[in-house]
Amino acid sequence: MTDQPHTIAACEREIRRLNRLVEASLMINSTLELQPLLNIIMDFAAELTEAESASIMLYDQDTNELHFVASTTDNPVAPRLLRIPVPLEGSVAGTILRENRVIVLDDVTADPRHYRQADSMSGFATRSLIGVPMRFKDHPIGVLEAVNRREGHWTDEDRSNLLVLASQAAIAIENARLIQQLQKAFNELDQLDKLKNDFIAIASHELRTPLSVILGYATFLKEDAQGEVGEHATAVLNSAIRMRNLIEDMTNLRYLKLGEGELVREHIPLAAIVQSAQNDVESLAQAKGHILRVQIPDISLVVVADRIKIGMALTNILNNAIKFTPSGGQITLTCERKPQAVWIVVRDSGIGIPQDQLTRIFEEFHQVEDHMTRRHGGMGLGLAIAKAVIEAHGGRIWAESEGPNRGSTFYINLPLG
Ligand code: ADP
Repeated sequence: MTDQPHTIAACEREIRRLNRLVEASLMINSTLELQPLLNIIMDFAAELTEAESASIMLYDQDTNELHFVASTTDNPVAPRLLRIPVPLEGSVAGTILRENRVIVLDDVTADPRHYRQADSMSGFATRSLIGVPMRFKDHPIGVLEAVNRREGHWTDEDRSNLLVLASQAAIAIENARLIQQLQKAFNELDQLDKLKNDFIAIASHELRTPLSVILGYATFLKEDAQGEVGEHATAVLNSAIRMRNLIEDMTNLRYLKLGEGELVREHIPLAAIVQSAQNDVESLAQAKGHILRVQIPDISLVVVADRIKIGMALTNILNNAIKFTPSGGQITLTCERKPQAVWIVVRDSGIGIPQDQLTRIFEEFHQVEDHMTRRHGGMGLGLAIAKAVIEAHGGRIWAESEGPNRGSTFYINLPLG
């Protein structure tokens, strides 16, 4: 009976300890940035073990050393500690990591493994410590230490508190590092993307002026010249037109960032959009001896869309169908009314698209053929632009193909109204 108040007090203490561990776990698991995460781990380590200070050392595989990465935030010597490497041999922390075990020292000064250099460099006097290894998927990642117990000796409770913290910390640290690496890679990509866009904007702007001069003179020449000179002028003009189309594609890159707000929506008969795209590509189709068929069963069908942008998307798809179909092929465009949408389907009898490329062809600059060996012109932007435009309209675009030389089919799903 006399034990009872003591037992109740012990239970209450245990509940408080477990609650604090749960709180630590919640905070650790909700922190994604590395440095704040390390600070949280250490603050809890020091508090739960009643220590003056706590620190985290992470293992660096390249140098085979441990490095202080964090030390309790209110500790004035912490910044100095952070630059000190700790060797794996001849240090307590190194032994903890190498041998994967907890080390409890009530009197550090008596232990020959104590790495005194850290103390002398930081000016911090370590009297006692308890350290536990941190491991992730069987790999050592570092050591968590509590230093200088404020009163008495280290207890079993201190040991189990640190072990719980260390196991949570190891996972959280690895996740935070992964996020850091991803963020870095993402920033680099972002930077590259910006460079690419700036380059394209400058190049297309600078090319446009001389090109319009070439186009102008080539048109005059073609009108006036006859015979061989006329043929040469036509060749120059055709190449200049191709170049202008490439530059237009580059300029249209900005459509990739298109938001809904940038669309100029109006009610337009679907037939008008299709007719205009057909006119754009008719001469190209004829030049390759293709049969181009357009079927619009419901002529009264009206869509709410940006006439110019949807027209451009459709023209890009028709141009591809013509380009990637050997001479004398068949291209059909059909429209189908569904309950909430209209489907525009462009089918060709061309070279087809491999299954593993059906999604990738919609990425910027992606082309199925290697750019060194490719036989077809273009820059790999047409479909990326078409996709961006159609998605800005709330629609969807995808491709299907039966395989090499069995043609391709492009589906555009455009919401009605
Ligand atoms: P580009 O035509 O300038 O190369 P696109 O973005 O329009 O760029 O198309 C990307 C790639 O998708 C093309 O290079 C081609 O490999 C493939 N592709 C597109 N349309 C077709 C099609 N109808 N048949 C076969 N392959 C196609």
